[in-house]
Amino acid sequence: KLVSKKWKAKPTSIDLGDNVFIKDGEMAIITGPCSIESEEQIRAVVAHCVENNVKMMRGGVFKPRSSPYAFRGLGLEGLKLWYEIAHEAGIKIVTEVMQTSQIEEMYPYVDVYQVGARNSQNFNLLDELGKVDKAVMIKRGISGTIEELLQSAEYVFSGGNEKLILCERGIRTYERASRNTLDLNAIPILKAKSHLPVIVDPSHGIGIRAYVPQMALAGVMSGADGIIYESHEIPEKAYSDGQQTLDFAQSTRLISWIRESFAMR
Ligand code: PEP
Ligand code: MN
Repeated sequence: KLVSKKWKAKPTSIDLGDNVFIKDGEMAIITGPCSIESEEQIRAVVAHCVENNVKMMRGGVFKPRSSPYAFRGLGLEGLKLWYEIAHEAGIKIVTEVMQTSQIEEMYPYVDVYQVGARNSQNFNLLDELGKVDKAVMIKRGISGTIEELLQSAEYVFSGGNEKLILCERGIRTYERASRNTLDLNAIPILKAKSHLPVIVDPSHGIGIRAYVPQMALAGVMSGADGIIYESHEIPEKAYSDGQQTLDFAQSTRLISWIRESFAMR
């Protein structure tokens, strides 16, 4: 496989410009709400990122929701607004693309296209992202194996797009005490098998706010190249995933713990 270490021994470095990288040997921190909700919220989260020297912000404008009646995002208009505010502050945008028709319209306003867990094996989407000259982060499928995640990456890579990031976000197991089961095993295994950077999402991985920091730090010590987690100025009021979202005080604390842990690794 092209994404394997056998094909390419040197770790792939993702250069997002302005000296922002996702790469082996660095610790990328990506935070922001589950859903982009309003201009006020965007400004609050951007300010939080700036205060903590975080250069990448996450958020969904097209949301895959389990219920069709749930909030599905602000769409392209929300993305444009977000881009304007974030880029003015020097912050890169990580956001989910749900279907092929969105790739082009989103292109000017995105730094990393996120492929969600539910789309992890949407091979049409992966094929089209293979033709794009922009970074793509692929999340592991809800019940996806490590091998399936690597095969999904292979779709994009073989299409010509080598700016790829892998993301462990928890898998569905028999355990119902947590939303998902964060598979920490996947991190050293993916790092050994592939030259691509590996990011961990403890928010979706455990789904319980109070335990997100522990799992984030476990991800750091397991060898991850970055952590992506949900934060919001008032998590209780978030339109989606509030139960697993940190407030800014918790987020600020986690950022310094991540950096301290990484320095000790
Ligand atoms: C998200 O990042 O908010 C999200 C929907 O993630 P996942 O695809 O991993 O469920
Ligand atoms: Mn979410």
